[in-house]
Amino acid sequence: MPKIIGENIDTLCNFQMLPGSGDLTRGETQKFYKAARQAQKDPLTYLAATALAERVKPGDNVLIVTGARNELVLPYGETDGPIGGVALARACYFGLGANSIVTVEESNKEPTEATIRASGLYLREPDMLGKVQGICVLDFYPLGPEAGKQHARWLMDTYNPKAIMFIEKHGPNAKGHFHTVTGREIDMNGMANTQYLLEIAKEQDVVTIGMGDGGNEIGNGVIYDAVREISPWGKKCLCPCNDGIATVSATDIFVATSISNWGAYGICAMLAFLKKDVNIMHDEDTERRMVEACAYFGSVDGIAMIPLPKVDGISIKGGQAFVTLLRELVVNGLSNVARHV
Ligand SMILES: [Zn+2]
Repeated sequence: MPKIIGENIDTLCNFQMLPGSGDLTRGETQKFYKAARQAQKDPLTYLAATALAERVKPGDNVLIVTGARNELVLPYGETDGPIGGVALARACYFGLGANSIVTVEESNKEPTEATIRASGLYLREPDMLGKVQGICVLDFYPLGPEAGKQHARWLMDTYNPKAIMFIEKHGPNAKGHFHTVTGREIDMNGMANTQYLLEIAKEQDVVTIGMGDGGNEIGNGVIYDAVREISPWGKKCLCPCNDGIATVSATDIFVATSISNWGAYGICAMLAFLKKDVNIMHDEDTERRMVEACAYFGSVDGIAMIPLPKVDGISIKGGQAFVTLLRELVVNGLSNVARHV
């Protein structure tokens, strides 16, 4: 039964709401999904939620890595990423009793803080961990590779997370360069280099989960060869490295999805099913509050590239409808009535 629910949730998370356009990979994400299933066999949200349920115990910490930064167009990041990350933080509290540390570039401070507050979690200082319930700590990941390497070690030593989730977070290609989904280079000195967390997680046997929709985000290393073939910028790019956007950063589990937030919501829904309580995932009102809060403080919609209260071109109503359908899948999965009619 859980695998069937996971299959249905995966299908929903990979539903296409926008046509592909120009050099963007919208419309291609189902090919990424197919490759991810081939590599990992079982439904992706099932794999991710099962790993969380097995590894994370009450009072444990989980680390959520998100946020985009580009001084010109994304000074405050995007709505795709932080909202899904906070939805996961919320589900890890209600479903597993875990506290969360969300790490973003400091430029994403205001929208991420607002999203945490809108989710109903308690935004507190780190010294409150273990003293108060439902805590979400906001951490600022420094820019550049050297500081990134050091901060990865510091985060692991300080918080001892039992799971690390990367959502819509850029990963480097084989030559160490970072790119936008349309093949432009992102200066590694102007962004958080969070990929170093992967090496330490491996050493310490901490499970890592990635969510992505473009081929360039951490986690996509699981389908590296497929991204190079499928994405128009997979193996070539507009920067001097000319090695493409496909990242080598692989996570233990990679959830390919049409919108990164939706992959996160899918994991929340699967966790709600496993733990037999639909309210472990957020509801439609919380969805509206989070999207409004995030955009109000400057995070942009990834299609319009201005702070509209949308996520990758999907309106608040569209996002709420998605949440409604996910919740219905969970409720029907848990209901004896639904199975007998
Ligand atoms: Zn390049």
